[in-house]
Amino acid sequence: MNSFSFHNIVINSDMKKQQILGYTIDDLKQVLKDLGEKPFRAEQIYTWIYKNNVHSFSDMQNISKHLRNLLNDNFTISCLKEEKKDQSKIDKTVKYLFKLDDGNLIESVYMRDGNRVTLCVSTMVGCPVKCPYCATGLMGLQRKLTTAEIVNQLLIINNSESKPITNIVFMGMGEPFLNYANSIKAAQIFNAPSGCEISARKITISTCGIIPAIIKYTDEGWKFKLAISLNGVNKFQRDILIPYNKKYPLEKLLDAVKYYTKKSGQRVTFEYILINDFNDSIDDAKEIRKMLRSIPCKLNIIPFNENSHVPFKAPSEKNLNRFLKILYKAPFAITVRRSKGPDIAAACGQLFSEYNKK
Ligand code: SF4
Repeated sequence: MNSFSFHNIVINSDMKKQQILGYTIDDLKQVLKDLGEKPFRAEQIYTWIYKNNVHSFSDMQNISKHLRNLLNDNFTISCLKEEKKDQSKIDKTVKYLFKLDDGNLIESVYMRDGNRVTLCVSTMVGCPVKCPYCATGLMGLQRKLTTAEIVNQLLIINNSESKPITNIVFMGMGEPFLNYANSIKAAQIFNAPSGCEISARKITISTCGIIPAIIKYTDEGWKFKLAISLNGVNKFQRDILIPYNKKYPLEKLLDAVKYYTKKSGQRVTFEYILINDFNDSIDDAKEIRKMLRSIPCKLNIIPFNENSHVPFKAPSEKNLNRFLKILYKAPFAITVRRSKGPDIAAACGQLFSEYNKK
């Protein structure tokens, strides 16, 4: 947690205000203890922010005036500004564009599917992995988001939409496992009973295969769902589609995933973006079947969404069906996930802060 003491809160009036959304409930209890307050005040503050959607410390009526003033002087609640939102005419998906305090921009996507309402959050401005099929990768890494900037995406969108968010996927802009500490903290806040109260199994963290982070995640015992972007079945395909494969090669990645499934007892989800005439052959499907047969997993096949930023093409229906037919008898579950919001560039791999270019 951020080291923070009563002493420097009171005397350092010039100190930059802290983003309270960046504090897990345990962090906040510690801060309040340092302030000479009872730790249960943290639950009250969490309830005001996450359950009652209150944006001002002054409105937190069951908290003493003294503490409200201290909070006001030293913390901010909101750190994002909604710049724009677009709604898909095809499936009502909504894409939000947010401005950060330093002027950078990020996007988040709100998707409805019956009773399930999923938020796709961003963890970085741009991304260093530079996958060539992904518009975010083209931006390179501008900077990592703070925990508060990740959490604030949910608060603003929940406040703006009529149906509350039930599921979170860390699949927006950025590689969450290269912003590990802030992403995990944000997931903890989404999950906290006095916070957003979203069950751990409804929070999915997706990585392109950052092996040391997968091992750390496993050893720390987190219960959030883990998804791995597979996207290729051999070194050639993965080196092209996910440049970090050169650093974290496929065979070692699969070993790390096996370590995770064995130690956690959880199934993993593999994501496979199907690209026309690149990774959609009969041999590719056979190789996936062989490669994943001993791993407790689910495979999500995502037909590629074309966009103006990248040269790849969507698979033909014929190739998609051929691919599925070969996988039909695989010993793991397979789903085809059609990305939402393609008409507003909200689909998988399409997030890109075009406004950054202005
Ligand atoms: S696909 Fe994910 S890891 Fe790859 S560049 Fe895009 S955001 Fe980064």
